[in-house]
Amino acid sequence: MDISEENKGYNKIETFNEAATEQLAYHYKKVLELLGEDANREGLEKTPLRVAKAMQFLTQGYHSNPEDILRSAMFKEDYQQMVIVKDIELYSMCEHHMLPFVGRAHVAYIPNGTITGLSKIARVVEAFARRLQVQERLTTQIKDCIQNTLNPLGVAVVIEAQHMCMSMRGVQKQNSITTTSDFTGAFEKVATREEFIRLISAKTI
Ligand SMILES: [Zn+2]
Repeated sequence: MDISEENKGYNKIETFNEAATEQLAYHYKKVLELLGEDANREGLEKTPLRVAKAMQFLTQGYHSNPEDILRSAMFKEDYQQMVIVKDIELYSMCEHHMLPFVGRAHVAYIPNGTITGLSKIARVVEAFARRLQVQERLTTQIKDCIQNTLNPLGVAVVIEAQHMCMSMRGVQKQNSITTTSDFTGAFEKVATREEFIRLISAKTI
């Protein structure tokens, strides 16, 4: 049984830019050689091609428009309380070393007549994370995107992440977590912000 049958009709198709894939694979082969490897040995034979595809996957955010993701699911609603999506898994790559940073994002907004689908919030995080990033900019981009699109009373974004460029190299601080946060509007009030922090810190499930 092949995978598509097993998934009962859900058929995930990955598409890659063929010309880019070929060029990337060519250069990754050179990289392997420069690192002292025998790029022709069996285990590495297909590695340049795999890396070429993996890197395109990890940077696919360049081809998506996060504001459009939100605009595709906007609904009028009178609810004016905090909406929080917490513990959104986050995988990104630091632009200084092209090494992963991994963690969680917590996003909240207080609607002002317009809400969006909850999954869209996670997709916005994904669209910005799948690029070369710094955690600070990633945090601000998510905040700005939601603020500019939904025009809510306020947006809050907190990201906690572990950076492989810290853990694996350099200072080798293996367990340090970097936290960044950014707020707009109603979240600039201490009480609202504290409520948000309390809710994302609570163990709920
Ligand atoms: Zn780095």
